[in-house]
Amino acid sequence: MSQQEFYLDSNATTVVLPPIADAVMKALTQEFGNPSSSHVTGIRAKARMERTRALARQVMGAHSGQVIFTSGATEGIQTAVISALQTAKTRPMPEAPLLLYGATEHKAVPETLKHWARLFDIPAEVRAIPVDGRGRLDLDFIAGHIDRALMICTMAANNETGCFQDMAALERVIRSGNPQVPWMVDCVQALGKLPLALAETSIDYAPFSGHKLYAPKGIGWLYVREGVPLTPVIAGGGQESGLRSGTENGAGIAALEVLFGMMLSQDGAFADHATLLGYRAQLVNTLRGVFPELVFNQDHDCSVPTTLNFSVPGFSSKELMDLFDAAGIRVSSGSACSSKVTRSFVLDAMGLPAWQSESAIRLSFGPAMTQAELDAVCERIDSAVAALATSCLLESDRDAEKHGLKGLIQFKAGSSCCWLYVDPDSNHCVVVDPVDSLNQRLERLIRCQDLVPLAILDTHGHADHESSGVALREALFDRIPAELMAVDALGWPNSCGTRRTLADGQVMPALTLGNSVLVRAPLPGHTDDSVALLLSRNACDTLLAEDIDFAFCGDTVLAGTLGRTNFSNSQPLSMYHSLNQLSVWLHPDSLICPSHDYHHQFATSLAAELREGGLLAEVLSGGMGEHAFMLAKAELDSGLCDQAGSELMCGATVAQSGGAIPELRAAELQQWRREGRRLSLLDIREPHEFALSPTSDADNVPLSRLVDFIGQQRYRLDSDPMVLVCRSGSRSLLASQSLRRLGVTNIHHIAGGHALS
Ligand code: PLP
Repeated sequence: MSQQEFYLDSNATTVVLPPIADAVMKALTQEFGNPSSSHVTGIRAKARMERTRALARQVMGAHSGQVIFTSGATEGIQTAVISALQTAKTRPMPEAPLLLYGATEHKAVPETLKHWARLFDIPAEVRAIPVDGRGRLDLDFIAGHIDRALMICTMAANNETGCFQDMAALERVIRSGNPQVPWMVDCVQALGKLPLALAETSIDYAPFSGHKLYAPKGIGWLYVREGVPLTPVIAGGGQESGLRSGTENGAGIAALEVLFGMMLSQDGAFADHATLLGYRAQLVNTLRGVFPELVFNQDHDCSVPTTLNFSVPGFSSKELMDLFDAAGIRVSSGSACSSKVTRSFVLDAMGLPAWQSESAIRLSFGPAMTQAELDAVCERIDSAVAALATSCLLESDRDAEKHGLKGLIQFKAGSSCCWLYVDPDSNHCVVVDPVDSLNQRLERLIRCQDLVPLAILDTHGHADHESSGVALREALFDRIPAELMAVDALGWPNSCGTRRTLADGQVMPALTLGNSVLVRAPLPGHTDDSVALLLSRNACDTLLAEDIDFAFCGDTVLAGTLGRTNFSNSQPLSMYHSLNQLSVWLHPDSLICPSHDYHHQFATSLAAELREGGLLAEVLSGGMGEHAFMLAKAELDSGLCDQAGSELMCGATVAQSGGAIPELRAAELQQWRREGRRLSLLDIREPHEFALSPTSDADNVPLSRLVDFIGQQRYRLDSDPMVLVCRSGSRSLLASQSLRRLGVTNIHHIAGGHALS
């Protein structure tokens, strides 16, 4: 049975409501005339267009001025900017001219200003007007700069936060400093959510888009104040009084006619402001109830009630998006999504802390929302978040059944990796390479799963900060056995008396966790205190290379490269010997778990590094001596950029080439099934996502446990074809590439993931 979907992303676009869709269909099939035609069909189309224009005026409170139908707001913005720049060319140019726009404006505005200023050869600086912590424009800044402005662009309501401005105060400051300056107000997100009375203002240009309020994409309009210059952007047949040529979008205009009728009638199709405020209050209560630590990234006193923007400490936007999507609730990360870091330039401009910007979620709805729908949404949010509690990712007093946690789990913050190993036969665990921002999550998990942390270990000391292990150990002091509390600088318990013999006969200190054993061995090079933590699920006395399942090597071996050796406490020559040593201790397929993963490769192995043929491969194949290594390593480090964003780069890495992963369409998968082909279908979403929308016969191998899965399968990886699936196809692609790198050949992933299944 397919899951019911709840669409809470109306600021991106909206559904076309049934009466509007009916009008569109009628316009396409019956009333399809060209308004320029002089026959009856054309006359009817023209009449509809003029009726719609008149309704637009009523909706905008603009009895005077022009209304020009466009393809949407972006086109309206082009027209306004070109018109203003054209005007500027006819006036004396002020010294150091400016094109001003609000710092939280939609990208369509600053990009258009820059584009046309460049093409028109206008020597103006495109300057952002700062905003305060609520998103309100800095009026003093405007007062100090407006006299040099060739144009000023502001917005009626922000698309990410819903923030609206004090328009009267804004107008006073603009007009008292520059009565003539062209002023554009982007009204896209205000339509249907804020009262508009454009004719009572001195706003010169106001662009709108139909699809943000239940009309189809491809129709919008631009309001232009009476007497304000307008430069046609599209020339041709002279439609729209010569201001915008091209045969008009009759179906789109028909949609607007119905939409405007609904907005103007009091028949209850659209909720009034008081009702929308009530809806927001209910959503706020629900969200606060499920996420007690949630923070709103907006001030509700100056934002439209239909936009909520919030962050939850400890959760990235991506994680919350995945959760909501799995529960059938469509929300937005409220920010531009780049491949690496997701953050919001709007929230950054408001000066909100980085974590809020990186974890923002936007939830937006329209005035056609009903109480019944809202109740269902709130219920669904409640059950989605309950799934997080079963994964121990959220504290909860509900009596939820918890997903058990066993084996190796990988946590990531940016490119930093932290590892939790839970012995499958006891409740003992260790944390390796703790990361500050993940401490809270780890503490919650360990408590919720009733685990006993025997040690919180670093693979090396950090020059630039104290280990996060100190804080985590303090937070978990009541769970760590008292005799293991006294530790050395890397967190290794002083009283750990066990020892194990490694493949070359060296005897090293060891920590036993149920049936597993963790051995610590020196691995100097990246830093002089670097160690390898070698984990075997088999606690025998002598650990041969094939007994080592996972090797935590910190920044010594990263996927596709070696950690840097140009710190003051680095020693490239020691690294050379450490690498040779490692090749004796480890099996070629033992999984090397790094403390940084710059390109989503998750883990590596000596065999993978040998296949890739980098510097480590040269050392391992015996073809490189000490001196040559030192030279090559210095060369490798010289190509290292020190910083990636706020992170210190610990190794020069290259994105993996990988080769293409065969893609499978959902229909092809079904065909394979019908043919009775043997395959293993792996759903790599996190357990709470999987629980919310399970796929019938897939095994759940969450991405955070991918390395554990590979470790379990080490000698069975080449049997049946593996088919990976996730929400959208991006995680399954990354996981497939990683598996491929680690030697799995028979692998496919479902392009488009569950979204296209
Ligand atoms: N302005 C704002 C505030 C918006 O939210 C959008 C769309 O997201 C636009 C302009 C651009 O609208 P369109 O893509 O419909 O042209």
